[in-house]
Amino acid sequence: MRYDSFMLTINHTYRIYPTTDQKALMLDWLETCRRLYNHCLRDLKDWINSRKCMLDSCSINREYIMSPDIPFPSYLEQKRQLTQWKKNNPYYKSVYSQVTQDVVKRMHNTWQAFKNRGFGFPRFKKYGQYRSFLFPQFKENPVKNNIIKLPKIGEVVINLHRPIPDGFTVKGVRIVSRARNTQWYAVVTIQCDVTVPEFKPYGRAIGIDIGLESFLVTSDNFRVKPARFFRDLQGRLKELQRKASRKKKRSKNWEKAQIEVARLHHKIANSRKNFHLNVAHKLCDLADSIYVEDIDFRVSAKGFLGKEMLDGGFGQFRQLLSWVCWKRGKYMGQVDHKYTSQICPECGTHTGKKELSQRKHNCPECGYTSGRDHASARVILNRGLGINVVPRDAGERKQPTECVLSGATNSLDKCNVGIF
Ligand SMILES: [Zn+2]
Repeated sequence: MRYDSFMLTINHTYRIYPTTDQKALMLDWLETCRRLYNHCLRDLKDWINSRKCMLDSCSINREYIMSPDIPFPSYLEQKRQLTQWKKNNPYYKSVYSQVTQDVVKRMHNTWQAFKNRGFGFPRFKKYGQYRSFLFPQFKENPVKNNIIKLPKIGEVVINLHRPIPDGFTVKGVRIVSRARNTQWYAVVTIQCDVTVPEFKPYGRAIGIDIGLESFLVTSDNFRVKPARFFRDLQGRLKELQRKASRKKKRSKNWEKAQIEVARLHHKIANSRKNFHLNVAHKLCDLADSIYVEDIDFRVSAKGFLGKEMLDGGFGQFRQLLSWVCWKRGKYMGQVDHKYTSQICPECGTHTGKKELSQRKHNCPECGYTSGRDHASARVILNRGLGINVVPRDAGERKQPTECVLSGATNSLDKCNVGIF
C-alpha cells in the first residue's frame, strides 16, 4: 500500500525563555527588520510609481522621477543593494546577515503573492507589527539539552517538550514574539533527509462531513459536538476586552490588560488546535482511510457562514488531520465537494438543494431518512471509494443509529503541540 514518496518537512513550536538582555536584543532586531521591510517596500513602490507617468509629460502627482536605467528592485537586486545599505546603516549591520536577507525575501514573497492573486498589495508594517524573524539555515543542529544556540543571540533556554525525531535535521528556526512580547517561541523547521512513503487507501474507510451544528459527522454516524469550552473562552475574552477598554490608554494598567487579552487569544488558538488534534486521532482510531471534501474553507468563510466557519478553524483541522493520518499510517483522501448535500447516499437520487435550516435528509425515491450531515458524509465516502449507488428495495434497509462523542477533551494544559 506504500508507493509514492515525498520529502517530509515539519514545524515544531517550542517555548523559549530568553534573558532580559536577549529579549532586548531580539526586540531591537524585530524593529530593524521592520524598517528594512519598509525600506524594500518603499523602493519597490517608488519604482512602480515612477513608471506610471507618461514619458513626454511631467507628472504633477508623482514626486519621484527615476532614471530609466534603474533596474526593477527585484529580490536579487535588493539583496545586492542590502550590502550597500549596511555600509550606511549600522542598525542593519547589527542584525545577523541571513536574517536580514530573509526580510527582503519575505517582502518579495508578499509581492509575488500579490501578483499571482491580484490582491493583497504588500503593506508597510507599523511599529510592533513585525513579530518574527527567521534563521534560514544551520550548519549543525542548534538544539541541545534544552538550549537552542542562535547566531549572535547566543544560548537560549528552550522547553523541548517533544524531542526532534531521529533522522531529521534542523532546516531553519523562526523566532516569534507572542502576547505583546511577553512570550517567545521558536518554530523549528525540521526535515527528514530520507524520502518518506505516502499511504494508499486501504482497510476500513469512512467519509466525514464537517459542519457547524456538529463539528463533524462520519459516515457511521459518529458525531463530534463543537467544543463547548471554546465558547466559554470566547465569553471570557469579551469580558477581558471590555475591561481593557475601560483603562486609560497607554497607562500601566492598560498595558497589563492588553497582555491579558493577548494571552487569552493565544490560549484559544492553542486549545482549538488541541481539540482538532484529539478529533483527528479519534478518527484514526475509527478507520484506516478517511475521506473529506475538497471544499476551500477560506472561500466559504467569506460568504454567508462568515465568522462561524473561521471559528471552527476547519482549514486547520484538515491540515492537522492529514498530518495525524500520516503519522498513524492512515490514508486521507479528498473528494469533490459539489452537491454532497443534495444526493441520496442510498440510491443516488438528486434530491435538490436543501435550505440551511433543513437538518434531515428524506429521500423521495427510496425513503432513506437520516441527518443531513450524516447523509453527506456517506456521499463523501461513496465518492472516495468510487462507488456509484443504485436503488435498492427501501423496505430492507435499517435506519442508522447514532453515537456521540460528547465534550471532546477539556484539558487545556497539554496545548502546545506545535504542528503547523
Ligand atoms: Zn434515496
